[in-house]
Amino acid sequence: MEIIEKIYDVIVIGAGPGGLTAGLYASRSNLSTLMLDRGLPGGQMNNTAEIENYSGFSSILGPDLSTKMYEGAQQFGAEYAYGDVQEIIDGKEYKEIVTSSKTFRTRSIILATGAEHKKLGVTGEAEFNGRGVSYCAVCDGAFFKGKHVVVAGGGDSAVEEGTYLTQFASKVTIVHRRDTLRAQKILQDRAFKNEKVDFVWDSVIEEIEGDQAVSGVRIRNLKTGEVSTLEAEGTFIYIGILPNSDQFRSLGITDEEGWIETDEKMESKVPGIFAIGDVRKTVLRQVATAVGDGSIAGNAAYQYVEELKEQLEKTHA
Ligand code: NAP
Repeated sequence: MEIIEKIYDVIVIGAGPGGLTAGLYASRSNLSTLMLDRGLPGGQMNNTAEIENYSGFSSILGPDLSTKMYEGAQQFGAEYAYGDVQEIIDGKEYKEIVTSSKTFRTRSIILATGAEHKKLGVTGEAEFNGRGVSYCAVCDGAFFKGKHVVVAGGGDSAVEEGTYLTQFASKVTIVHRRDTLRAQKILQDRAFKNEKVDFVWDSVIEEIEGDQAVSGVRIRNLKTGEVSTLEAEGTFIYIGILPNSDQFRSLGITDEEGWIETDEKMESKVPGIFAIGDVRKTVLRQVATAVGDGSIAGNAAYQYVEELKEQLEKTHA
């Protein structure tokens, strides 16, 4: 295990919109800043076709906004490195971040690890992953040109991505477990107006069927108990998100579901450890809210590091 001797002022874990903004604010305040991620900068924005609720852009492609934010974060010297974080060790003078290959040292940490798609947990889901089962319409939609696809869920993601899929698919059937959608009204209206979008209400997918690839889904109506099969070549699953916080649970900063609790400065229960964006316990998870969180945390980390350095100077004097 390589130990990096340098002690950073701040290490941001996760480089989605929140993490990239925190990196920008921290480095612009002259903090030595490192952003760590186990994937591409931009996070979930890379799997989003069009973003039309981020102020300043009437519409922008997710990957394009990722590139812009990444460039923005780097202009004041924030470094970027690959890192799959396994553990955080809290110390008095600095904290350690243990990745699969290196240990980094830092005065403060901003957790921006986001969330990942929930699984249905039904037969066929894992088996046909990548062979008709997908969690990313932007990545896989084009494989379903002229085909029928089923979308599971009733929130913003299911309805927005389901509508997006009509560019490729001949028909999109959204299967929702209730008879009203959770999605924002504007997204609902768009889906209801789209002739290619159908809904199956009060129903859940019980099994994803197929041989080499998906051929259909078995559906149960929760009100009548009736079971039926819908023929479809694709199943897109958008039933919500889970926090990427397993590695941080031992710090005692998460609620029972794993969302990280913070104060208004984005600071967790552990001084000097901040959390922002989707992984944080919050009421709204958007690019805009992640960016707002990131700016607050970048600034709060600056104040924390300055005070810590002052204290350390006094102690060592
Ligand atoms: P979500 O808002 O949690 O919605 C999940 C949906 O899946 C709900 O309709 C839920 O049904 C259903 N569901 C949950 N577990 C299920 C299960 N086991 N079987 C069948 N159905 C199940 O999740 P999301 O749509 O992925 O969105 C996540 C976050 O990102 C939200 O905060 C959302 O607002 C945000 N987002 C925003 C935008 C945008 O602003 N354009 C786009 C995408 C996502 P019930 O309704 O019955 O609970």
